[in-house]
Amino acid sequence: MRPSLLLAVPLLALATGCAHARPDDAAAAGRTALVIHGGAGVIERGSLDPQAERAIRATLQQALAAGGDVLAGGGAALDAVEAAVRVLEESPHFNAGKGAVFNAEGGHELDASIMEGHTRRAGAVAGVTTVRSPIRLARAVMEHSPHVMLAGGGAEAFADTRGEIERVPNDWFDTAPRRRALERAQRQAAAGREDAAAYFGTVGAVALDARGHIAAATSTGGMTNKKWGRVGDSPLVGAGTWADAGCGVSGTGWGEFYIRNAVAHDVCARMAYRGDSLATAAEAVVNGVVVEAGGDGGAIALDAQGNIAMPFNTAGMYRGWINPDGSRGVAIYADE
Ligand code: ASP
Repeated sequence: MRPSLLLAVPLLALATGCAHARPDDAAAAGRTALVIHGGAGVIERGSLDPQAERAIRATLQQALAAGGDVLAGGGAALDAVEAAVRVLEESPHFNAGKGAVFNAEGGHELDASIMEGHTRRAGAVAGVTTVRSPIRLARAVMEHSPHVMLAGGGAEAFADTRGEIERVPNDWFDTAPRRRALERAQRQAAAGREDAAAYFGTVGAVALDARGHIAAATSTGGMTNKKWGRVGDSPLVGAGTWADAGCGVSGTGWGEFYIRNAVAHDVCARMAYRGDSLATAAEAVVNGVVVEAGGDGGAIALDAQGNIAMPFNTAGMYRGWINPDGSRGVAIYADE
């Protein structure tokens, strides 16, 4: 940022008598940051074949590049999170879009939500079956309907009215590994056991743009072998996705626990109401509240200063980040 601009921010705050401007805000102006996830779950070293692991890391880098380029070009956090999530939706390695898990009937029902912090605008879809990019439809709900959330046949009917929303047959989302996961889950269910790997691979992104605005987005196929139109936390504003002026979160994990504990909102509320740091708030909710309730999973979060948190309590979480200083990375396992 030019020095004249750096000076202008505190001067403006003085001139307008603005009580909210803190030294931090001036220092943070112009910083950007991005954090993404590709799901938390039973991802242990040695459990991924090396070729799949390389492909997953490369796709995380591509998603970072897609969102990072938007931010570097002065674009909006909302555009950055959509761009990053769309790359992950297109990859068969993640449980969102292509590669979504199978429900109990052998089909796919997709959920997604997106939220912009400073305006509190939000859009969400649940149980859609023919929409290639559910995050794109969630954004269309936000921008082109008076509503926040549309579900099932109604969401499909809304998609019919939007020429830019690409449609595909439901079996376009099929992949062989997800079918094997369904067969395994159904064998285990028949034997009266829960499948420990019923979820993972949900995707999400949270971004801070140069104007200091935050957005968050999450997209998923939900849980393997789900039935009865089950909807998880991912499309629920406040549970799987949240953004406000100071903080944004996207969650991944056992969705019922994220809904009951309003996980994404709780992280940001702890910062707003108690003055907790991002790291303290995210850690307390994901590794405290969720675990004590009997759930598991992870979350990505960032604040208006560009601090990033990525807590999880599973063996791994696919994740990637670009810090305000431009340093970036991707990781899978807990020890990296
Ligand atoms: N949270 C998602 C759900 O419950 C699953 C996941 O994160 O993988 O639908």
